[in-house]
Amino acid sequence: MSAEWGEHCGLFGVYGHPEAANVTYLGLYALQHRGQESAGIVSSDTHALHSYRNMGLVSEIFTRDVLKRLPGRSAIGHVRYSTAGTSDLKNVQPFTVHYARGGLGIAHNGNLTNAHILRDELEAHGSIFQSTMDTEVIIHLIALSNEHDLASRVVGALKRVNGAYCLLFLSEDEMIAVRDPHGFRPLVLGRQKNAYFVASETCAFDLIGVEFEREIEPGEMVVINEDGLHSFYPFIPVRTSHCVFEFIYFARPDSFIFGRNVYGVRRELGIQLAKEHPAEADIVIPTPDSGFSAAIGYGHQSNIPIELGLIRNHYVGRTFIEPKQSIRHFGVKIKLNPVKELIKEKGVAVIDDSIVRATTSRKIIKMIRRAGAERIHVRISSPPITHPCFFGIDTPMKSELIGSSHAIEEINRYITSDTLGYLSLEGLKRCVGDNNSSFCYACFTGDYSIKFPSMMEESQLRLYKAR
Ligand code: 5GP
Ligand code: MG
Repeated sequence: MSAEWGEHCGLFGVYGHPEAANVTYLGLYALQHRGQESAGIVSSDTHALHSYRNMGLVSEIFTRDVLKRLPGRSAIGHVRYSTAGTSDLKNVQPFTVHYARGGLGIAHNGNLTNAHILRDELEAHGSIFQSTMDTEVIIHLIALSNEHDLASRVVGALKRVNGAYCLLFLSEDEMIAVRDPHGFRPLVLGRQKNAYFVASETCAFDLIGVEFEREIEPGEMVVINEDGLHSFYPFIPVRTSHCVFEFIYFARPDSFIFGRNVYGVRRELGIQLAKEHPAEADIVIPTPDSGFSAAIGYGHQSNIPIELGLIRNHYVGRTFIEPKQSIRHFGVKIKLNPVKELIKEKGVAVIDDSIVRATTSRKIIKMIRRAGAERIHVRISSPPITHPCFFGIDTPMKSELIGSSHAIEEINRYITSDTLGYLSLEGLKRCVGDNNSSFCYACFTGDYSIKFPSMMEESQLRLYKAR
């Protein structure tokens, strides 16, 4: 069983716009970094739902003809990245179902931590599942509900699930957006005249000229229909647990999430990193693209010029999708190339946002060494990743995370750098402005804000990866 990267997702929804599907397509285009494996849109023309989902990039999937077949003034869309093993059309979102009360589309960003338990229970009572996605349990719970409005059915279903979820629901006449009480994943609300927009990140609004209104709050449910927008807080409040990895790596730097601009945070991480781990270097080299923002902070703080010592081929985007290690290594080589003339005989500080398995980093360091670097100091703008994520950024299993079993000096030797420095957890907390511990740092600490027995780790992973 190979544990590649798991669920990464992006959401977009619109209610009350004459070109709902077209606008959703553009929103997903801006959110492509959140998932490159598959995408889908469901629209409503108030009589029926229309859906199109496929494998591939947004620009490949949605042609003019396809968009024409998605009529109506409301739509929800989803981009997804999953494991090779489950990259299957049946798992592509949004899901659409037709049940006794009409049509329902659902799009999910996050991971449910008790999905396998609920699934076993539902299957024992006769539910037939069509996908291997945790999200599908929500549909079954909604379909079984006796409440007579969709919002109440959704609340009833969500009161039974644990974990991380940002969800968009679309029926013939309503759009509902929900963010889990912990607020793991970002979700933002926008407005343009009488139309409402919901997206994972604000960069989706910028592209289509929509005004960012506010973030949907942890535990908030927003119901949008012909009466306008109504906000509810149906869940018991809990301590907020924003995913700090959204700031470190996942979100786009131009987005505003969790009350901050992502680039601003990353730049500060670089500044803090330079304070904690200065390097005797002639140049600072960012690892494209994830290391750019932190490298700018690092160079600024240490007064060392930043140079583009690694050039990325922008037309190779999916290194991590390759199922076999051997192909992944190849992917690194076709993606990045050093500028030899710049690097030759220099001391370099190479900045990246994170080390996961260390296989990419090792390749990159070797590449820079071959280009003639004299000394290589690797600086990472986050602490060592030691634990898998069960809340929507599926880092590999613990055994594959180099930080879970190796000391920093061992990792330094493995990736063949001269020195290696990681940002401290305290430094990270300071940069994200975390005064009342409102972030989730579980990938660095193992301190999960939703508790589950450790035997669950495996069954949890199995649900996403093997079924
Ligand atoms: P490693 O050297 O551990 O093999 O790879 C480190 C690189 O993986 C870093 O450049 C980091 O930006 C990138 N990375 C971290 N998290 C993720 C993720 O969730 N998905 C992808 N595709 N890359 C990631
Ligand atoms: Mg990277």
